[in-house]
Amino acid sequence: MLAAMTAAATRYPQLFTPLDLGFCTLPNRVLMGSMHTGLEDHARDFGKLAEYFATRARGGVGLMVTGGFSPNVAGWLKPFSSRLSMPWQVRAHRRITGAVHAGSGRICLQILHAGRYGFHPLSVAPSKIKSPITPFTPRALSDAGVERTIRAFVRTAKLARDAGYDGVEIMGSEGYLINEFLAERSNQRTDRWGGSAENRMRFPVEIVRRTREEVGRDFIIIYRLSMLDLVDRAQAWEEIVALAKQIEAAGATLINTGIGWHEARIPTIVTSVPRAAFTWVTRRMRENLRIPLITTNRINTPEVAEQVLARGDADMVSMARPFLADPDWVAKARDGRAALINPCIACNQACLDHVFENKRASCLMNPRACFETELVDAPVVHKKRLAVVGAGPAGLACATTLAQRGHAVVLYEQANEIGGQFNLAKRIPGKEEYAEPMRYWGNLLDAFGVDLHLGKRADAAALQAGNFDAVIIATGVTPRDPRIAGQEHPMVLGYHDAITGKRPIGKRVAIIGAGGIGFDVAEFLTQPAPSATTDIARWTREWGVDATLARRGGLAKPETEPSPREVWLLQRTAGRPGKRLNKTTGWVHRAALKAKGVKMLGGVTYEKIDTAGLHVSIDGNPQTLAVDNVIICAGQESNRALADELSALGVVVHVIGGADVAAELDAKRAIRQATELAVRL
Ligand code: NAP
Ligand code: SF4
Repeated sequence: MLAAMTAAATRYPQLFTPLDLGFCTLPNRVLMGSMHTGLEDHARDFGKLAEYFATRARGGVGLMVTGGFSPNVAGWLKPFSSRLSMPWQVRAHRRITGAVHAGSGRICLQILHAGRYGFHPLSVAPSKIKSPITPFTPRALSDAGVERTIRAFVRTAKLARDAGYDGVEIMGSEGYLINEFLAERSNQRTDRWGGSAENRMRFPVEIVRRTREEVGRDFIIIYRLSMLDLVDRAQAWEEIVALAKQIEAAGATLINTGIGWHEARIPTIVTSVPRAAFTWVTRRMRENLRIPLITTNRINTPEVAEQVLARGDADMVSMARPFLADPDWVAKARDGRAALINPCIACNQACLDHVFENKRASCLMNPRACFETELVDAPVVHKKRLAVVGAGPAGLACATTLAQRGHAVVLYEQANEIGGQFNLAKRIPGKEEYAEPMRYWGNLLDAFGVDLHLGKRADAAALQAGNFDAVIIATGVTPRDPRIAGQEHPMVLGYHDAITGKRPIGKRVAIIGAGGIGFDVAEFLTQPAPSATTDIARWTREWGVDATLARRGGLAKPETEPSPREVWLLQRTAGRPGKRLNKTTGWVHRAALKAKGVKMLGGVTYEKIDTAGLHVSIDGNPQTLAVDNVIICAGQESNRALADELSALGVVVHVIGGADVAAELDAKRAIRQATELAVRL
């Protein structure tokens, strides 16, 4: 243990330097940032929430923050959502704090007043101005209402202390109520809470000052400061620095970084945002303060976290989604097992997208996240011999889970590498993170002794002769044949050949099919090479973030690099393509392609393909798109012939992933299905 810790201390010396807060010492520089999981909304789920946090406390994280709890009804995110404002609510929270402390962890409760982002008719704001992303117009708080709201924040902090929390995080960023007070776009008051910058700051400063008075000195107060609003008519950098100084003087223990309002049109956490793309902002702020600063956004590996701390950008790093992907992130980094950290690929598919759909959050890479008490390993009565056919996400998740439970697993993959469809995804500019799961699964296969056969097509007779207790079929999908006249023309190619670069692609290209893969191919054709998309300075210019911090809101004019190709992205369904992309990421893909001039068209009928190009009718009007290439991205069909053959031979077969359902070929569903099977076999 000591040797492992020394190794970690050598490898990640900054990350594992304790942080002395005066009245307590955090064991490392990692904060698990606030995430709404959906378990906060009902006390009946607090047992599950307690185990969720306790698992992560045992995994060694220095400090955690809960999802947001509103200080009153007006501050709800949605009707009847998480709130802590009554003494009788304290008891349920003790379950959470007790479990965390039993796991040697520390936890703060986040106090979040949604302001005009409240998705209900009782929402309030500094002024009666509707946000562009909610249907409800808020009521403007009166002077007495502002005072009552401050008292509500303080009361919640006091209740959090009574409930055994180690502190609170006061949510002052992301465009919620406190942030709304700070910006002219949402605060047009003329009383002591609006007008001048000094007046607009009064609300957060009073909250922090009076909270400190109430909770005493030995209680953590984190203030989440909006350092870049990324919307217009927002704060100037000098105002943000002045606010930070006042928050420090008012008694905050730590200042955390907030980047971008929810209504901002600049992505801040999706996978195409380069790693650690915003830590430079925290560094600029750090020059002005004495208390420790926490930085955040797109930090997901110990290497990146260590670099951020080593170059002095911040005193701590906050990660939220990486702790859904791996509750033992810190312990693995500390104990020399970083190679086995389950990576967060920043896809949002099972975490944020679920929250927006009012579903419980989880993780595409780790379906046990938020299901710690439900998705558990069944006891292994006798060790089985199992074959898994196909090493895409479903097969890999299944094989590695089975092997970790102690079964003997043979894994067959006809390609020469593991990863399946993720090997295409990782080649898309802005999706470089998709290489990480293969690193993780590959290391797990080694660590747990899975017998891997690459470049080997498993046939039914050999599998039957292998006398396996069961065969798991994860053979994935094949591209759908769209049956368009002339599709055998040499200008036509499938998405696999396009993405792997097997065939050269011309300057004018039509893409048939505008699902997830059609969009990926369009980005592949219009974006620069992946090495350029991970360049923070280039990304910052491209999206219009003001790196000089000279302009209000941190907004600059986007400097889009022109696309090297003219691209049409087509679908038969009427309406603009991209409506079915995921909620929290689809808008980024649409905006990126729009900036590159991609013509996205719906209501298309494909007539034929010949040397003149792609002949289509759009809303009944015939047109010829004079393109050099047509790329087919028309969806998939299940590959399950082997499953049918094996069943006919009487072999016990389980079909998972795309081989089971191709229509919604979806890694999230595939990995969950694989894990659910693997924990019970
Ligand atoms: P998809 O999302 O099902 O889209 C298939 C596209 O092909 C649709 O635009 C469909 O539109 C068109 N199409 C269907 N049948 C056709 C036919 N017979 N002839 C011509 N066009 C046809 O499939 P996908 O793009 O292959 O993506 C598969 C899955 O991979 C996604 O659902 C997603 O889960 C995953 N994925 C996700 C992402 C992401 O960004 N989140 C990226 C890549 C892949 P019309 O029927 O209107 O023509
Ligand atoms: Fe990360 Fe995707 Fe898991 Fe969310 S679902 S935690 S973004 S890997």
